[in-house]
Amino acid sequence: MADPTPVIDLIEAFRRSKTMFTALSLGVFDQLAAGPREGPDIATATRTDPDTCARLLDACVALGLLARQGAAYANSATAQAYLFRGSPSTLAGYIQYSNDVLYPLWGNLEDAIREGTHRWKQTYGLDGPLFSHFYRTPESRREFLLGMHGFGLLSSPAVVAAFDLTRFTRLVDLGGGTGHLPVSAAARYEGMQVAVFDLPAVIGNAREFTAGSRVELIEGDFFIDPLPSADLYALGRILHDWSEPKIRTLLTKIHAALPAGGGLLIAEKLLADDLAGPVHAHMQSLNMLVCTEGRERSLAQYTRLLTEAGFGEVSGRVTGAPLDAVLAIKS
Ligand code: SAM
Repeated sequence: MADPTPVIDLIEAFRRSKTMFTALSLGVFDQLAAGPREGPDIATATRTDPDTCARLLDACVALGLLARQGAAYANSATAQAYLFRGSPSTLAGYIQYSNDVLYPLWGNLEDAIREGTHRWKQTYGLDGPLFSHFYRTPESRREFLLGMHGFGLLSSPAVVAAFDLTRFTRLVDLGGGTGHLPVSAAARYEGMQVAVFDLPAVIGNAREFTAGSRVELIEGDFFIDPLPSADLYALGRILHDWSEPKIRTLLTKIHAALPAGGGLLIAEKLLADDLAGPVHAHMQSLNMLVCTEGRERSLAQYTRLLTEAGFGEVSGRVTGAPLDAVLAIKS
């Protein structure tokens, strides 16, 4: 008989995710950041029922997110680093966004597959341009950007190190969000000028995240406004948001704005060229289906789009970080 383990594992996978989302959303990992506490004390602090709170805490122990210390619970090292909101490496933003926004959108995945479109209207009644959904309130904008930031911090040092970018003098990160990629580039390439270009509302948030760095902040819309001059543009998790016609428009515009020898650095999760994996990239591609117009692609698929836009040389690197890197050069 075939092994049922993968099926049983997947039946349970969303329960494990939702358990972590719930503990984070209730503030369990924040309550334990300063040290171990007993169950009833955590229930009081999180305003939850003591019996069901203990059930949640024990489940988190089983998942390796908490540890038992006598009658008390403590954050595991992983929870302290990634689930406590005050940690510099926190992923709490992305987890909260997954709980509040993505989880309901994924509830309508069958209809997304049937109709081939995102689920904002079906799930939330929202029409209109894509980022007006992500940014429907200042709080939802900050939550989304915090989510991008956590994964960005894990990826950008590897993305800017994937190629030797020493020859470039000015990097503009288009749709750069909180600026983690330019911050990483500035740290690695001493003489490089670096900038974030993003929608005006986002530049307000970027100011907070780049305080004390030498990142220039530029407001604009990359589909409408002229691009600020640069010999290296970056697109981090931008191409996977948009339909192919919009990608063509953007890549052609970037190619036209670059000097000869200029580059475009792309940070995305790469699918294998035979589309056989990795699982994380396929999950991200379905995630893009429920919440954007886009999808994930392989290096071969990016190379086709980039060469059609006029780029000469295209190289890709799997970084081992959540995002991989592609560099395209204008001949
Ligand atoms: N590059 C950042 C990162 O990797 O963390 C952010 C990625 S996020 C998925 C997409 C970004 O594109 C957001 O910061 C969003 O505000 C920005 N964006 C969306 N539409 C834009 C437009 N028309 N012009 C400029 N930026 C835009």
